[in-house]
Amino acid sequence: MTIVEARKPDPKKFIKGATGDWEVVIGMEVHAQVTSQAKLFSGASTEFGNDPNANVSLVDAAMPGMLPVINEECVAQAIRTGLGLKAQINLKSVFDRKNYFYPDLPQGYQISQFKQPIVGEGIIILDMPDERVEVGVERLHLEQDAGKSLHDQHPTMSFVDLNRSGVALMEIVSKPDLRSADEAKAYLTKLRIILRYLGTCDGNMDQGSMRADVNVSVRRPGEGFGTRCEIKNVNSIRFVGQAIEYEARRQIAILEDGGSIDQETRLYDAVKGETRSMRSKEEAHDYRYFPDPDLLPLEFTQAYVDELAQHLPELPDDKKARFVADYGLTPYDADVLVAEKVSADFFESVAKGRDAKMAANWVINELFGRLNKEGLTIETSPVNAGQLGGIIDLIKEGTISGKIAKDLFEIIWTEGGEPAAVVEARGMKQVTDLGAIEAVVDQIIAANPDKVAQAKEKPTLLGWFVGQVMKESKGKANPQAVNDLLKAKIGIE
Ligand code: ADP
Ligand code: MG
Repeated sequence: MTIVEARKPDPKKFIKGATGDWEVVIGMEVHAQVTSQAKLFSGASTEFGNDPNANVSLVDAAMPGMLPVINEECVAQAIRTGLGLKAQINLKSVFDRKNYFYPDLPQGYQISQFKQPIVGEGIIILDMPDERVEVGVERLHLEQDAGKSLHDQHPTMSFVDLNRSGVALMEIVSKPDLRSADEAKAYLTKLRIILRYLGTCDGNMDQGSMRADVNVSVRRPGEGFGTRCEIKNVNSIRFVGQAIEYEARRQIAILEDGGSIDQETRLYDAVKGETRSMRSKEEAHDYRYFPDPDLLPLEFTQAYVDELAQHLPELPDDKKARFVADYGLTPYDADVLVAEKVSADFFESVAKGRDAKMAANWVINELFGRLNKEGLTIETSPVNAGQLGGIIDLIKEGTISGKIAKDLFEIIWTEGGEPAAVVEARGMKQVTDLGAIEAVVDQIIAANPDKVAQAKEKPTLLGWFVGQVMKESKGKANPQAVNDLLKAKIGIE
């Protein structure tokens, strides 16, 4: 069988080894915790940070005779996610038992979907700096999370916290379509944005709501797929990048040395910056999957799917396209703004009825710049959309200059207030009275005859004069008027 690959080898992405070029191939399995009040098959709470074993029902603890009951909201969330990934939604899917023994798995099996997942093939689009990459989604299935073993609470005993046991996860499996660490990071970033827009997973990687298993192999450009290693449970986007860089080089070194890659499961050690073996293929579990006899096949109608589709929010790709088409933003600015739905909404309320490019510029450069510096977010911003819009209006009507606007932004940031009122109260209005500006221009020209002579030869010196006038007027002179007057008086074209 020949595998038809969607992507052609791209020399820009090759890794140079001692004996020539290599291509890295990556596929990801992302576990995303479903946003829902209750667990997948029980009514226990999913709240994060509660005391150990506070969120455990008899079902989650696998008490004898307890039966799972599917949580419809989790099903709806999986369908919404499938729709957001432009994927095939399967009207019939089946829950299977994946059997293994582990202390944090009281049932002795995990309920998952194996042969017939709820969601089939879909797509995620990556806007890389110089190309658009389409990454295939192989499938999305629903499954239960396991509990957590605590080994560091007691010198001789281990404890088990079942709060997570039974929480709904979506496992989203990509095709092996990624070709660099950067693409893998972009894939995770994009998937996270889509999930957050949909409201189906909060994407908090540091709380474990999103975890990635990263499959990496290398090959000579043009050859078939190589043997892969799977790096389990990487919990930050940055670490995914680092783990891939390390793992690709490790595999290349082995192959160039005449060795071969063992298919195995590895762990990424973020402290050492390396991956290491966890178990080999021989030690791989035989999960003895079989359909869970306690659960009927999951079935719903196309009408149910259509109803969910109708209430889907605008997704990041569509929002970005709209921001570029309707507001004339650059794709780069649009990307920055749509990265979080709250930022996009904030921008739109600032831009409404105003110069959109100016609004984007103020939101991205002034506001986001400042928020980042202070470790704040849009939600905790001291300057709201109305205030930022007010500042922009004052610049547009010529009441204040761009420079004064930055001072005004600082004042609003620290003290609050309504921009127009602050400008009025503090006498920050721009001087557009030509007579007043002319007096200052004349004064500066009279005081600097040498510079005037030089400026006639070298017009770039005009900037120095503008600076002097602005300084003298404490930044309040209308810069355009200053420029025009200086040019006319010094005699520069
Ligand atoms: P399994 O279920 O047997 O673990 P899958 O075929 O489901 O394997 O693939 C698991 C993940 O590994 C998928 O994300 C897939 O894209 C990725 N993958 C498969 N083959 C390769 C390969 N040669 N190199 C890198 N990733 C791969
Ligand atoms: Mg798999």
